[in-house]
Amino acid sequence: MIPEPFEYHRPDSLAEAVALLANYGADGKILAGGHSLIPLMKLRLAAPKHLIDVGRIAGLDTIREEGGKIAIGALATHHQLESSDLVKSACPLLSETAGEIGDVQVRNKGTIGGSLAHSDPAADWTATILALDAEIKAVSRTGERSIAAKDFFLDLLTTALKEDEILTEIRVPSLPANSGEAYLKVHHPASGFAVVGVAVRVSMDGNGTCRDLAVGITGVAVTPFRARKVEAALKGRRLDSGKVREAAQGAVDGVELESDLYASDDYRAHLARVYTRRAIERAAARATGKR
Ligand SMILES: Cc1cc2nc3c(=O)[nH]c(=O)nc-3n(C[C@H](O)[C@H](O)[C@H](O)COP(=O)(O)OP(=O)(O)OC[C@H]3O[C@@H](n4cnc5c(N)ncnc54)[C@H](O)[C@@H]3O)c2cc1C
Repeated sequence: MIPEPFEYHRPDSLAEAVALLANYGADGKILAGGHSLIPLMKLRLAAPKHLIDVGRIAGLDTIREEGGKIAIGALATHHQLESSDLVKSACPLLSETAGEIGDVQVRNKGTIGGSLAHSDPAADWTATILALDAEIKAVSRTGERSIAAKDFFLDLLTTALKEDEILTEIRVPSLPANSGEAYLKVHHPASGFAVVGVAVRVSMDGNGTCRDLAVGITGVAVTPFRARKVEAALKGRRLDSGKVREAAQGAVDGVELESDLYASDDYRAHLARVYTRRAIERAAARATGKR
């Protein structure tokens, strides 16, 4: 289908993009990779009057290490994150997640900032960003602010970004020694999105005791979430298989689950429990050197 008519803007700088967005308010939309927004416009589920293409603003796609954190520009593509040597060594969970997204074309065009701003309930980055306790930087005409991942995803396709804010950077803490991570996903057979996606970060001490654990889950509810009950059950304990299996049963406790033609809420709950267990086991094995 053909989208509603719109005016196309291509700012050369972030300041120009911020000014355009402030000027057009609810009539303006940022365009990054276009892999979520353009399909919505073609279906006429979105009809912005002004499209502000930030895709060629220099420097918004860089990935660098700064102050013990990895700073990822909003325009970094999934492919950049999948293939970056820095990311692979400092936070392999990011590259593992990126590799699970869509296909080569999607990974070459889609951006991490676009994915987070769009906040599809079945998107992959959301679980990982939660598990990593990332910070999300946003800029508007009134200045810059940092939003904790746990406060970012508010509702279906709704984030804490204000109408006049542009997501510019994601900051991820470097992982301590003896850490392991894993992202496991059940791909929807038609779309490739996550029916269930589980991101795990675990830190162990020398005796095999779990010092810290974070479990982010996507695909099963309208927003991604941390499986706090699982985390609480395993922190400070040895991660033997019986304990992990038992704790993973609590993966979706208290969560209102989605149901659709492909997967009922019961099936999603089952998958979430199984994939939570497997992801914790894989992350723990990696933390103890059995990658
Ligand atoms: C065939 C196909 C398969 C896919 N499979 C998967 C998959 O398996 N897993 C998955 O997670 N995703 C998947 N996607 C989605 C893909 O990852 C998108 O690239 C991503 O969701 C959106 O990123 P984008 O850069 O294309 O954003 P765009 O489509 O350009 O923008 C999306 C939304 O975010 C806003 N936005 C974008 N950038 C910013 C910014 N910097 N600041 C503020 N707002 C911004 C836009 O205004 C828009 O509302 C798939 C997409 C397609 C087409």
